[in-house]
Amino acid sequence: MSFANLGLSEKVLDAVASAGYTAPTPIQEQAIPHVLAHRDVLGIAQTGTGKTAAFVLPMLTKLEQGRARARMPRTLILEPTRELAAQVEESFIKYGKNHKLNVALLIGGVSFGNQDTKLTRGVDVLIATPGRLLDHTERGGLLLTGVELLVIDEADRMLDMGFIPDIERICKLVPFTRQTLFFTATMPPEIRRITEQFLHNPMKVEVTRAASTVDTITQGLVKAGREPHDKREVLRRLIRQAEGLKNAIIFCNRKREVATLYRSLLRHKFSVVALHGDMDQSSRMAALDQFRKNEVTLLVASDVAARGLDIPDVSHVFNFDVPHHADDYVHRIGRTGRAGRSGTALTLVTGADSKAVAAIEKLIGRTIEWHGNPPADDLAEDDGPREPVRMGSRMPRRGRGQAQDGEGRPARGRSRDGQPRDRQESREAPELGQERGNQPRAAQDRGNQERGTQERGNRDKAPRPADDSRRPGRGKRDATVTPLETARRRASRDEAPDDIENWLPAFLLRPVRVKA
Ligand code: AMP
Repeated sequence: MSFANLGLSEKVLDAVASAGYTAPTPIQEQAIPHVLAHRDVLGIAQTGTGKTAAFVLPMLTKLEQGRARARMPRTLILEPTRELAAQVEESFIKYGKNHKLNVALLIGGVSFGNQDTKLTRGVDVLIATPGRLLDHTERGGLLLTGVELLVIDEADRMLDMGFIPDIERICKLVPFTRQTLFFTATMPPEIRRITEQFLHNPMKVEVTRAASTVDTITQGLVKAGREPHDKREVLRRLIRQAEGLKNAIIFCNRKREVATLYRSLLRHKFSVVALHGDMDQSSRMAALDQFRKNEVTLLVASDVAARGLDIPDVSHVFNFDVPHHADDYVHRIGRTGRAGRSGTALTLVTGADSKAVAAIEKLIGRTIEWHGNPPADDLAEDDGPREPVRMGSRMPRRGRGQAQDGEGRPARGRSRDGQPRDRQESREAPELGQERGNQPRAAQDRGNQERGTQERGNRDKAPRPADDSRRPGRGKRDATVTPLETARRRASRDEAPDDIENWLPAFLLRPVRVKA
């Protein structure tokens, strides 16, 4: 099948050829003719399948007829995050190079004034996040009654982020006669309900899940020491030894880890940028841009920060942490081996990760090969709290299996309710308003996005290591030293001093009495 058989216009075919695409992907092949035939489409496809072009290319063809009117966009695309919205805009620029269309982006963090000016001029394509779009309609600066085509992209993520009520409101503001293209990676009941409500006799187009399309990816497991500095060392070795490494994404489970690993890699002179939810919008865009343009080789990211981003041509994915959710593994490694290219995905595994690895292997329906020996199963992790690492003979010692921090809390491994601490703690707080989850929306997107400050609300809420030595009174004891100080002095490892607070258990950061 070639693009020429799909019914696309000459201008679009020319742009597709310039993009270097020789054949449509399955979702493009199946969806494009129906979009051109004015049918509603229900596309079940993940990022990486070419689904953006599946709606952008036929939209461009259709938009060649007619023109935009002030404040009344002709087409509307809803995206769950600013990054995804910005990527779709880039697709319009890339594939619409032969068109003179007005494309506007309505996302948080950008002034209303500029967006308003653009709307007044009239837009052919409006790409928006739901909250910001409703802000504009409520202010009266935007009318959706001229929308001929509505795209709802990444609908299941919209659901995760609590945007479904907004989507329902928006669907009621656009004309009943519009054409609707609806994309989702999964079909939970709530999404099914929405499709039944807002799609009219849709053509269902489904492409295989990424979980079953990993044949082009060489996957491997690599034993890593339990401690982060050991893991970092293993990672550096893997990067240096990686064959054909062009660029790589390194995934961490927590944003704190992203920041630590990023600093460490910088110190070791790697060409690296980071992407996590605590960075402001412009830093994230700048980092992503550098990575996309191949100005840097490595991108360290958390799942939430990286999900859905269009980063073509990644040769390697490294999982610095085994993801807690098997689905995340599939998303992560789906960053490589795209569109038939080959890729490598290596996962660093500790003795505590055996269950997570088993869950991944079950999901993808295959075992992943070990590069070298696997680590011994860490039964301590399953059997109860582990004793903390002792940093020196003067550290207070507690009974075996009853490791506690200075205030009687379980120190590591599991919390009081028996949940592994890791799991409870910080899967990254979603960014870009993603923590909205099930909260009422009014308190969420609107005010924050308007002020362009929603990231602030998403700052890492994980407790910082308590450093009682800084509290008034505590540090006045005779002859006390902080274990932090002791550890700093003793640490012989190259990267311990700068980030020691991140890997030292909290109770070790408190002062202890030293006998004279
Ligand atoms: P998407 O699923 O829309 O995020 O697209 C994933 C990647 O596939 C993007 O980098 C596109 O540039 C690329 N892509 C889209 N369509 C094609 C195609 N027909 N041939 C090769 N690459 C494509």
